[in-house]
Amino acid sequence: MAQSEIERMPIVERCAGCGNIEDNVCRIWISPAAKWRLGTCPSATHVSVEKVETTEQKVRVGQQKQKKKRG
Ligand code: SF4
Repeated sequence: MAQSEIERMPIVERCAGCGNIEDNVCRIWISPAAKWRLGTCPSATHVSVEKVETTEQKVRVGQQKQKKKRG
């Protein structure tokens, strides 16, 4: 039986702590870097699905320019 050897790319920094790392390569994805390039790796065990909340609430604070007069 021919052993299919898939060349796996090294894990990336953000993989650190993931439970899918085996011998410094990812056992799920061939290219971890590509996974992270698209956002959070969907198979990462060490990160919870991050909600990228962009709170674009423009808090308008009334700009009150009060010049204090000295003297
Ligand atoms: S599953 Fe994702 S986070 Fe975990 S080692 Fe593989 S690529 Fe990295």
